[in-house]
Amino acid sequence: MSHNSKYSHPDDEIPYWWHAAPPEPDSNVSLPARCDVAIVGSGYTGLTAALYLASAGRDVVVLDREAIGFGASTRNGGIASGNLRLSASQAKQQYGETKARKLFAEGVSARDHLHELITTHDIDCDYQLNGRFTGALTDSDLQKMARETELFSAMTGIEAYAIEQNQVSQYIGSDVYVGGIVRPDIAHFHPGKFHLGLLKAARQAGTFVTGYCGVDQISKTHSDGKFTLQTAHGSVLANEVIMATNGYNQKTLNNWLSKRIVAVRSRIIVTEALSKNLIATLAPNLRAMGENRRLFRYFRPGPEGDRMIFGSREPIIQGSLDKAIEHVRQGMIGIFPDLASANIQSSWAGNVAFSRSELPLIFQHDGIHYAMGYCGSGTVWAPWFGKQLADKLIARDGHSSTQPESLFFGEPPAAIPLYNGRPWFLPAAMAWEGLQDRLQGRS
Ligand SMILES: Cc1cc2nc3c(=O)[nH]c(=O)nc-3n(C[C@H](O)[C@H](O)[C@H](O)COP(=O)(O)OP(=O)(O)OC[C@H]3O[C@@H](n4cnc5c(N)ncnc54)[C@H](O)[C@@H]3O)c2cc1C
Repeated sequence: MSHNSKYSHPDDEIPYWWHAAPPEPDSNVSLPARCDVAIVGSGYTGLTAALYLASAGRDVVVLDREAIGFGASTRNGGIASGNLRLSASQAKQQYGETKARKLFAEGVSARDHLHELITTHDIDCDYQLNGRFTGALTDSDLQKMARETELFSAMTGIEAYAIEQNQVSQYIGSDVYVGGIVRPDIAHFHPGKFHLGLLKAARQAGTFVTGYCGVDQISKTHSDGKFTLQTAHGSVLANEVIMATNGYNQKTLNNWLSKRIVAVRSRIIVTEALSKNLIATLAPNLRAMGENRRLFRYFRPGPEGDRMIFGSREPIIQGSLDKAIEHVRQGMIGIFPDLASANIQSSWAGNVAFSRSELPLIFQHDGIHYAMGYCGSGTVWAPWFGKQLADKLIARDGHSSTQPESLFFGEPPAAIPLYNGRPWFLPAAMAWEGLQDRLQGRS
C-alpha cells in the first residue's frame, strides 16, 4: 500500500511485524475449569509470568480478549532500552543517589534478562545490539543531554557519550541535529518474532494460552479467597490472578484500574523495501535512533536493514487516518528528506500505558497482582516484571530459593485526579508539549 492508501478503520491496520509472525486465528478451544494462576493479557508481561510459573510446576491459564499478542507486544518499535522516563539528575534528586543508582541498575538487569530469555529459549527475533543515537535539536539541549549522559554513565557504568555537530554524519544521515548522545548498549529486535518465541516457550512449559476469550468479570469467592474469571466461553477458577493488560484495560472489567493508567496511542509507519545502501547511510551501523523532543519520535532500520521504521505519538486528527499517517510521514521526511519518494508499506497504532508517577509499576490490589505502566519502554520492563511477579508467587509458596528482586514493587498507584479512563486532557497535553518544543527551538 502507498502512503495515500485508504483505511476504513484503525483496527484494519496490520502491523508490519504480523507478516513474519501472524497472530493465531480463533480456534474455539475449551477452557480449563481451574488453574493455579490465571493471567489476563497475553503480551510480554503475561507470557513471561506464565513461562516462569509453568516452569515451576504451576497450572497457568493466559486469556486474551483479542488474538494472542494483539496489544502493544506485537505493535512496538522493538527498541530495547530499559529506560526510565526520569533523567539521571531527576532520579538522584527525587530518590537520593543510592536508590537512583539501583533503579538504573535494575534497567540494566532487565535488559540482560531480555537477552537471556532470547538465548535460553533460542528465539529467532533478529536481536541486534547496534546501539542508539538520540539527536539534539538545539545547542542548549545538547549541553544538557551531555551533562545528563555523564551523570548517567557515572551512575551505571554504561559507556554512553555525547557527540558534536561535526560527528553527526557518522551516526545519522540527517542534518537536523546539532549533536547527540550515543548509547552503545541499546539493541533492537523483531517484536512479533520475539512474542511468538515467548508464546512457544510458555506453551512448552505447559501454559494454556488462548485468544478471543476476553475476561468480562473477576469475582472473589470469599470462603476460600479464590477468583472466578467469567468469559463468554465459560469461567475459570483460579488461586491467583495477574492483570497484564497494560494500555488495553477496559473500564467495564476494571474501573479501579482505569482511573490509574492512561493509554496514549503511538503510531508507526514502515517504508517499502529500499536500497540497503540508502538505509546504511541514514542509519550508520543500523542503530536505533530518537530525538530529544517532548513529543518523542523513535526510529530504526528494519531487521533486514532495507527499510525505515518510524514512530511518533498518534496525531490527533479527527476522522482521518490518512491525514494522521501523512503527518507522521512528514515528520520522517523532515528528518530524512531522502525518504520523500518512499512509499509507506504499513502503518498501525497501539496503546502505551502511563501512570501518574511515570515509573513502571508492580503491585497488588484486592488480592490481584498487577504489572504495567512501562511508559513506552516495555520491551525490556514487561518481560522483567512478568518474571518478578512469577518469582513472587513461587517464593510465596515456599518452594523456591529465587526471590523477586525488583525495587519497583510498591503500593497501588494513586488515582489520577479528574480522570475516569477517558483521556480528555490528551489533546491539550499534546498541544502543550508541541508548544514547548517550538518555544525551545525544536521546530
Ligand atoms: C506503537 C508502540 C511502539 C512501542 N515501541 C516501543 C519500543 O520501541 N521499545 C519499548 O521498550 N517499548 C515500546 N512500546 C511499549 C511496549 O510495547 C509495551 O510496554 C509492552 O509491549 C507491554 O506489554 P504487556 O504484555 O504489558 O501489554 P500488551 O502487550 O499491551 O498486552 C495487553 C493485552 O491485554 C489484553 N486484554 C485487555 N483486556 C483484556 C480482557 N478483559 N481479557 C483478556 N485480555 C485482555 C489485550 O488484548 C492485550 O493483548 C511501544 C508500544 C507501542 C504501542
